[in-house]
Amino acid sequence: MKAIFKYKPGVGAEVREAPIPSPGPSEVLVKVKATTICGTDVHIYTWDEWSQSRIKPPMIFGHEFAGEVVEVGKNVKTIKPGDWVSAETHIACGHCYQCRTGNKHLCENVKILGVDINGAFAEYVKIPEENAWKNDVSLPPEIAAMQEPFGNAVHATLIEDVTAKSVSVFGAGPIGIMSAMVARAAGASLVVIVEPEEARRNLAKKVGFEHVINPIETDPVEYILDHTSGLGVEVFLEMSGAQKAIEQGLRSTRKGGRVSFLGIPKGHITLNFAEDVVFRGVKMYGINGRKMFETWYKVKALLDSGLVDLKPLITHKFSFDDIDKAMELLINKKAGKIVLYPQKIEED
Ligand code: ZN
Repeated sequence: MKAIFKYKPGVGAEVREAPIPSPGPSEVLVKVKATTICGTDVHIYTWDEWSQSRIKPPMIFGHEFAGEVVEVGKNVKTIKPGDWVSAETHIACGHCYQCRTGNKHLCENVKILGVDINGAFAEYVKIPEENAWKNDVSLPPEIAAMQEPFGNAVHATLIEDVTAKSVSVFGAGPIGIMSAMVARAAGASLVVIVEPEEARRNLAKKVGFEHVINPIETDPVEYILDHTSGLGVEVFLEMSGAQKAIEQGLRSTRKGGRVSFLGIPKGHITLNFAEDVVFRGVKMYGINGRKMFETWYKVKALLDSGLVDLKPLITHKFSFDDIDKAMELLINKKAGKIVLYPQKIEED
C-alpha cells in the first residue's frame, strides 16, 4: 500500500510502499478514504524539537482519518466489515490509575496513532476496536476525519458551560475557529477572535464571526474590555500557545472567569502569576485530547444537528503525493484544514 512516512530523522516526508497491516485479535483494519492534516503532523514534518524526542522513524504518521472497515480481529464484537469509522487517536492502556478512574484521555501509558505507532496517512490503518468510532454513512469522509480535532475544540469549549457568556478565542487555526463555532452553537453571548495571520482572520470572518481582531493593530485587552462593560470575558479559550496571547487573554478574562488551555507553547511561559492568575481568581483547565467517549457524543450531536458545519474550514484537497505542497501551505499558515486522499483526486 501507499503511505506517507517519516522515513529518517530530518525535515520532510516520503511517500513509499508499505505492507498492508494485519489486525490483531482486538483490532480492526480500515481502508482509508480521507485524512486531514493536524498541527502535530506539521511538527513531525518539520522535525522540530518535540518530534526529535518523540518520533522513532521509520514510521507512518497522520491520525485524522475516516474510512471503511475491511477486516476485524477474532475478538472484535462491536465493529464489522463495511462499517464507516473514524478514530479516537489516543490508545489507552485500560488498566492504569487514570483509565480505571474514568480518565482514559489522561492514560499514563497512552500511545498516539501516527505518533507512537503507525498512523493513517496510508491506504490502510489498523486501530483497536475500542478506538473505532462508527459514523453515519451520510457523514462525508472529510468531515468524519475532522471529528478528532473538532473533539479537541468541543472538549476545550464545553468543559464548563458557555451559554449566555462572553468568550475570547486567542489563535484562529482550525481548532481555534472550531472552538468559536462550538461557543456560538452553545449560545455564547459574544465571541471575540484574536489572530495575527490574515488568512486565518479571513477564514474566521467567512464562517460568520464579526469580532475578529488583529492583535498587531488593535490591543485585544482594550477591545475585549470595551465589549464587556470593562469586565473582561467569562471564558478565555487559549488556542495559540503564544506567550503574548496567554498574557493578553488572561488580562482580558473577568475575575473568577474560566480559561481552557489547548495551544501548546514552544517553550516555557512567563506570567505575572500573582496579578493575572491568583488575584484574578481564574479557573484554569489544561485540555488534553477528548473525553472518551463523552466528547465524541457531543461531536456527533453538534454535527448531526447542523449546529456546526465544518465544511467551510476545508481550504485545500490533495492526494498523498502532494504532501510537500500541503505542508508548505500549513507551515506558512496559508491554509485552514487540508484534506489528503490516498488516491489521485478527481475534480469536484
Ligand atoms: Zn491507561
